[in-house]
Amino acid sequence: MNCSQKAKNVCPCWGYKENNGPEVWGQLTPEYRICDTGRHQSPIDLVNPTPAALPILIFNYQSASVNIRNTGNTIEVAYPNQGNWIEIDETKYHLLEFHFHAPSEHTIAGELSDMEMHLVHESENGMLAVIGAFIKSGSVNTAFDTFWHLMPSVANESEQITGVALNAFDLLPDTKRTYRYDGSLTTPPCSEGVKWIMMTTPIEMSEAQIAAFKAIFDGNNRPVQPLNGRKLLVDAGPNE
Ligand SMILES: [Zn+2]
Repeated sequence: MNCSQKAKNVCPCWGYKENNGPEVWGQLTPEYRICDTGRHQSPIDLVNPTPAALPILIFNYQSASVNIRNTGNTIEVAYPNQGNWIEIDETKYHLLEFHFHAPSEHTIAGELSDMEMHLVHESENGMLAVIGAFIKSGSVNTAFDTFWHLMPSVANESEQITGVALNAFDLLPDTKRTYRYDGSLTTPPCSEGVKWIMMTTPIEMSEAQIAAFKAIFDGNNRPVQPLNGRKLLVDAGPNE
């Protein structure tokens, strides 16, 4: 399969099956080689973090009109306009999109969660920061009611749902304590230099809500990668 010749946005040739999954991403095309050779890859196992006074994470999210599509590998909720951002160390990172994995990609001391949500941000100079939150089964989560029933079950550009109003801040756990480390995209091209911010507190969803996602995607998670000497930090106290 030649990935370079494919329209990646419509029909990505990478996936999670034996012939196109995480074990072979690095061999699909030269652009994905770092998936194999990178030393700062994500996800990782979150274990034995070092408590630290971390730079304050400031949220500037508000209600926005978003578009929802099935990319072939996840459900992606995209922000067509800037206006939602986080700020770390006086750098603004604009929220581009958020999406989901089932089961989780990161683990805590070797334990997977039912799902994981990733909010992908980019600064003016192209630096990426991803906020991740674990999702575990529990109570119904009404914050997802605005769009959970709209998730397209097939990958098709024309089935994109447009103009759904939501505020991503409502989706996050109340406690904003975080793990932080430097990693990569967890999907091809596995680019490094990504600032990872994982919420220590999971959010809950009902089993029916989790099942609704798993009916579309189950097993779209990359296995954990070696830490290779990187520092894993955790907020010494609640952030905010
Ligand atoms: Zn992701």
